[in-house]
Amino acid sequence: MKVFYHSLEQNYAPRHSFFNGVLVPYPDVPGRTRNILAAIEGDARFEMQPPPAPHSAAPEALHGPGFVEAMEAVCGRLREDEQFFPFLARPAALLLKSAYPRIRMGYYTVDGSTPLLAQSYQVALAAADTATAGAQALLEGERLAYAIPRPPGHHAGREFFAGYCLFNNAALAAVRLGEMGKVAILDVDFHHGNGSQDIFYDRDDVLYVSLHCRPEEAYPYIAGSREEGGAGKGRGCNVNLPLPAGTAWEDYEAALQTALEHVRRFAPQAVVLSAGFDTLAQDPIGLFSLEIDHMQRIGRMIAGLGLPLLVVQEGGYHVPSLGACALKLFDGLIQ
Ligand SMILES: [Zn+2]
Repeated sequence: MKVFYHSLEQNYAPRHSFFNGVLVPYPDVPGRTRNILAAIEGDARFEMQPPPAPHSAAPEALHGPGFVEAMEAVCGRLREDEQFFPFLARPAALLLKSAYPRIRMGYYTVDGSTPLLAQSYQVALAAADTATAGAQALLEGERLAYAIPRPPGHHAGREFFAGYCLFNNAALAAVRLGEMGKVAILDVDFHHGNGSQDIFYDRDDVLYVSLHCRPEEAYPYIAGSREEGGAGKGRGCNVNLPLPAGTAWEDYEAALQTALEHVRRFAPQAVVLSAGFDTLAQDPIGLFSLEIDHMQRIGRMIAGLGLPLLVVQEGGYHVPSLGACALKLFDGLIQ
């Protein structure tokens, strides 16, 4: 199976996230991808592809030129060692009145969790390119491909970055796959993909189905409830399956079964799996209790769809387990 990756992200290491009024160590570290790459390196099933063509994802078509240009402008002015947290104000539209590009940048986020660095824009582009290169492989006839973008993407919405995510890699891949027909995004990251939901909320050509910890207990707090079912012609094409903290395999399996039924009913031509490994019991952020072996069972259940599948890496923060999780997931997907 073809694997898509861009090494630019190894130089991308924000020091802090901002949470509950304090700076905390940033969990999306370069070691995450290193652990996954080391695990799949010696496995003949995984064929590393050359780096994707620069700016092939064209994120401005999805995120809007204002957002993309603002990120490019602000990152271009940051010092090499600078970590910039956007200024927040409400209503957010007030921020666009500012003469300062940095202040205007606050319009394009929904929380203060994620800083920008000088290299954020270029790294975000490379991550997006990685995911769309994976989508391209499916368009060219591959049945299964793996994209390993960093940073992750599912918290990035139409006009906002948040939750360690800058551009929405999986959403960009889904849009590219739209050339095949209807596409489903199945999101099994511990967190609700509020960005993916935002992007496709009023569309009926992309189904978004997410299993995640309920917003009463976990980030992003402001989205992910069962009642959010899509709008306009997209009504019924957004399915949230929130689960309580502490969820273990039995309840997770039942919810995944429900999620897969929604995918089958939608009858897509391809599926994008937003694959997060922060459902693991050991994860320092996640609150579920899955074991590494459960990734194989998740893979086997998803393989039962019998559809072309692009796996896009999202979260997962227990670094030493990530490679093992990826191998188990693909054990299930391939068998
Ligand atoms: Zn997550």
